[in-house]
Amino acid sequence: MAVYMPEPYRIKMVEPLRVTTREEREEAIRRSHYNLFGLKSDQVYIDMLTDSGTGAMSDRQWAAVMMGDESYAGSRSYHRLMEVCHALFGWKYFQPVHQGRAAEKVLFPNLLKPGQVSISNMHFDTTAGHVVLCGAKPVNCVVPQALDSTSRFPFKGNMDNARLTELIGQFGRDRVGMIVITVTCNSAGGQPVSLANIRETADIASQHGIPLVIDAARFAENALFIKEREEGQSGSTIREIVRQMFASADAFTFSAKKDGIVNMGGLVAVREDGGLIEGVRRYVVPNEGFLSYGGLSGRDMEALAVGLEEGVDESFLRSYTGQTRYLVDRMVEEGIPCQQPAGGHAVFVDARQLLPHIPYDRFPAHALCVEVYREAGIRGCDVGSFMLDPDPETGAQPQAAMEFARFCIPRRTYTQAHLDYVVASILRVKERAGVLRGYRIVKAEKILRHFTAQLEPDA
Ligand SMILES: *Cc1c(COP(=O)(O)O)cnc(C)c1O
Repeated sequence: MAVYMPEPYRIKMVEPLRVTTREEREEAIRRSHYNLFGLKSDQVYIDMLTDSGTGAMSDRQWAAVMMGDESYAGSRSYHRLMEVCHALFGWKYFQPVHQGRAAEKVLFPNLLKPGQVSISNMHFDTTAGHVVLCGAKPVNCVVPQALDSTSRFPFKGNMDNARLTELIGQFGRDRVGMIVITVTCNSAGGQPVSLANIRETADIASQHGIPLVIDAARFAENALFIKEREEGQSGSTIREIVRQMFASADAFTFSAKKDGIVNMGGLVAVREDGGLIEGVRRYVVPNEGFLSYGGLSGRDMEALAVGLEEGVDESFLRSYTGQTRYLVDRMVEEGIPCQQPAGGHAVFVDARQLLPHIPYDRFPAHALCVEVYREAGIRGCDVGSFMLDPDPETGAQPQAAMEFARFCIPRRTYTQAHLDYVVASILRVKERAGVLRGYRIVKAEKILRHFTAQLEPDA
């Protein structure tokens, strides 16, 4: 039986939700050209599009907002954020930026030259986008267990280090601009990376003199999974594990909208001296703003300083990842195929298994999300072939390793009853899965098309 853990907080402020009719939803999805990003939030009942920037701030964070120092240079709030970062990660340089992709934008041009490759367990979509914008190519190298949604392997986010060594040999050291470890591995289902695996990747990177970058969006959840699942780690604190995870990388990018529990914010960090931080700053000033705010207001930095501390609180992490586990366990009890074991921030429904009659280039996971929206006003999103841009040279549609329909859980936002409603709704869609049809793209951008593409139901 799926177990729901009581939350270590209570509700102090509420935001009313609007319930829509099926006719309203039919009309809304048609008007948004069958792209879920095109819906107005009032047309959505439970919004599981993303956990990014959608969590609830605490009373302490809102109190800190009032303490924001909006000085252009040398803001008190900036220094407070720096103190929290130094204490948590133990690195030398931290630069605020407005969100995770801004961190990518100011860091990657220092590491990647045109014609090079970036190797990662799995590049997040904006990460791959910024690699391509540098004229380089993203190559994914996750362990094969990640691609089998029924395997119970505890660290499905791990880098396949044997293959990494092979790839470096194939490309030649000079063509590999950077190695990126994404924790948790979002695109593989929010799956964690073990400490042993991070250390092994770091050794390979340093042997070849290749810079190692951590994409740290969900570092705290990853630390909890290490504590729960990795041998010899159950006695460590989350903060001790975080220190070890970051012990040997050269730089990290961080979308604070996830484990920082803020609505907007990000960081880029450099572990030590060596010229990289100067390169980053050169991009920050013209793109993000002066160094002591980097695109954030003083109050944003205050909220982030508190959020970073609350985000590594073990009781919070157990409750949050517990919600995900509950949702996955309930789905599996009902025979809905999901990535298992549960990852950190979302449930990933295996749409290839649920809709085997829809081919990858008709986007089964997207089709499932549209139908769940129609059924119940729940908004998820495709993490499958629809999310993959066509090959820039041939224009061919790549096939994703997995066709996942992702339903994210915003932090501290929804209750057990909401999650039960999600299970019941997806179950009703599952019962008529055989009649669902795929979608064709009728209009799209070349990079990150899934945000704005227009689609039509397949004839
Ligand atoms: C969200 C995310 C990013 C990008 O961050 P934004 O704040 O959305 O710009 C990069 N990598 C991973 C793994 C993410 O989840």
